[in-house]
Amino acid sequence: MLDRPHPTPEAPTTDCFALARQLSGRHFIGGRYVAARSGASFPVVNPATGEEVARAAEGDAADVDAAVGDAARAQKEWAKVPARKRGALVHQCAAIVREHVEELARLIALETGKALRTESRVEANTVADILEFFGGLGGELKGETVPFDPKVLSVTVREPLGVVGAIIPWNVPMLLMALKIAPALVAGNTVVVKSAEEAPLAVLRICELLNRVLPPGCFNMLSGFGPDCGAPLVEHPLVRKVTFTGSVEVGRIVAKAAGEKLIPVTLELGGKSPMIVFADCDFDKTVAGALTSMRFTRQGQSCTAASRIYVERPIFDRFVEAMAAKVDAMRMGDPLDEATDIGTIISPEQFGKVRGFIDEGIATAGATGRACSALPADPALRKGLFIQPHIFTGLTGESRLVQQEIFGPVTCIFPFDDAEAVLAEANGTEYGLAASLWTNNLKVGLDLAHRLEAGLVQINQNLVVQANLSYGGVKSSGLGKEASLEAMLEHFTHKKTIMVRMD
Ligand code: ADP
Ligand code: MG
Repeated sequence: MLDRPHPTPEAPTTDCFALARQLSGRHFIGGRYVAARSGASFPVVNPATGEEVARAAEGDAADVDAAVGDAARAQKEWAKVPARKRGALVHQCAAIVREHVEELARLIALETGKALRTESRVEANTVADILEFFGGLGGELKGETVPFDPKVLSVTVREPLGVVGAIIPWNVPMLLMALKIAPALVAGNTVVVKSAEEAPLAVLRICELLNRVLPPGCFNMLSGFGPDCGAPLVEHPLVRKVTFTGSVEVGRIVAKAAGEKLIPVTLELGGKSPMIVFADCDFDKTVAGALTSMRFTRQGQSCTAASRIYVERPIFDRFVEAMAAKVDAMRMGDPLDEATDIGTIISPEQFGKVRGFIDEGIATAGATGRACSALPADPALRKGLFIQPHIFTGLTGESRLVQQEIFGPVTCIFPFDDAEAVLAEANGTEYGLAASLWTNNLKVGLDLAHRLEAGLVQINQNLVVQANLSYGGVKSSGLGKEASLEAMLEHFTHKKTIMVRMD
């Protein structure tokens, strides 16, 4: 076990390659960077070049046991810290993250291939925003007085659940981690995070930043594979709550294991989010909105990506043309280059999966797939996992491209004539995460907003998750909410009733 001082720099650094090496091969347990008990590690690869930039500690049940044990010990003390003081400490963490935004942005761009200007820097700033938001909510952990009998004082108090296991994916790992740890910590829980295999570094750096303020053991991080490290975390007897973001398939496994233990779970799973465009929309704003809705700057690797776009027939052809032209103007290239709009796909596995969908779309009779944005010419990026954004027309509702989450830069556009029919199409997948409507007729917009099966519906905008607004899906898209006061109270505390007889 390594002792303090940490191997990472005190001051913010812009050398993400050196920082990646310094973070190599470590978990963060009990306030320290430590190697896996087994000594095993696996490669972390820069998807823009195919080069190994670091090793990640390969966690197993022994590491889980060590981290959860430390978290459980720390939780006893952390719960005694007054709630507003806990919040104030989390707020201080936000300030430290802000000082390191540039560093974190470069590190996440290096390991995920997300462009620095359009995605990575935005994500790093959002982490600070989320910590600030929840840091201010300590005083909201209130209970109630309950009318029962004048001689009996009956009150409820909000208590933490204990150790929270948090499992995160690779697409926006820092942001999703913040959404989980900030409310958990403010509510008096301690946390063990299992990072995603593909993106363990930036979240690992954040551990040390937060532990400059938080007591050791409050916040721990393990890297490793799902079945070997994620599963034992869910199953550990001292883990009293699991919060998970990832695929529907693994979400079901996690929910089953939590069910066996009878502990609560929050699940943020996939999406196949529809965007419905009426002919009376503000055309230019809506075309621009389609690009952001589809999260093309993140290569479409978003649960809320508008991967099905329904456009009212009178403007359909013009819309497809305008959208394709705008995507064409986006620049694909080195994620660390300020000029780049679009970076890479995360991993060879995802690359193969997305290519499979595209090839299937191209081979579908009657369908047209337009490839937009030129692939980067730079020979240094020859092995990079770049995929041209594709816009498909002419597919039918039964196509795999229309029903399944692709998690790549692929969207399908359809013409429609009738609002009722388009509503049925929009609701016609197993998912129910997000949706957007684009119209100046708010009567129509609000009516459809009420009838869309989704946790989040936006009219004339399609922003990513925002602090203070509850976020979470229905149907196979998940269970529970994140990002809000409601999320902190309902998902990271339980209500205890206390009654006092006074005669
Ligand atoms: P993706 O398809 O985006 O990789 P996954 O659902 O496979 O999404 O992974 C999301 C997170 O869940 C990752 O951190 C992964 O390691 C973890 N995971 C995968 N399998 C399991 C499992 N059986 N138990 C717990 N966590 C798992
Ligand atoms: Mg996976």
